[in-house]
Amino acid sequence: MALKEVVTFPDPVLRKTSEEVEKVSEDIRSLIDDMTETMYAYRGIGLAAIQIGVPKRVIVVDVGEGLVALVNPTICEEEGEVQMEEGCLCLPGVMVDVKRSERVTVKGLDEKGEEVIIEAEGLFARALQHELEHLDGILIVDKVSRIKRELLTSALRKLAKEHAAAAKKS
Ligand code: ZN
Repeated sequence: MALKEVVTFPDPVLRKTSEEVEKVSEDIRSLIDDMTETMYAYRGIGLAAIQIGVPKRVIVVDVGEGLVALVNPTICEEEGEVQMEEGCLCLPGVMVDVKRSERVTVKGLDEKGEEVIIEAEGLFARALQHELEHLDGILIVDKVSRIKRELLTSALRKLAKEHAAAAKKS
């Protein structure tokens, strides 16, 4: 297992659409291990592979009910609607209200490549929806109204500045 660095906004890699995994190989299992270690180290409750710069459809989630790793996850059913304040490891210091389905059924492959169906609600459902959006390059800042986004601008500018400074260094 290796700890990876989480990519931060506005790194363009976060806008990529991640690719389907053709086979759940050793490489994918080791990616899942790295993602898990990174998620825990950053004290996150979920992580998508793209957040460590790997454009593959793999996510890990642990909202305190145990680790769930999913390959090629898709939502097959969703129900209800609930708004809650949400953050993202790629947007440190940014919290926004996001409306999401209250319950979701997600289908995908586990780390052995076997099909699993997960029924989730509450925070678990929210985390799954959040990570799934990362696979299509969607971030929580895209989910807020324009007025709220203007309020966010200073926080986002600060991140952009830090990103530029870090890029110069490396
Ligand atoms: Zn996120």
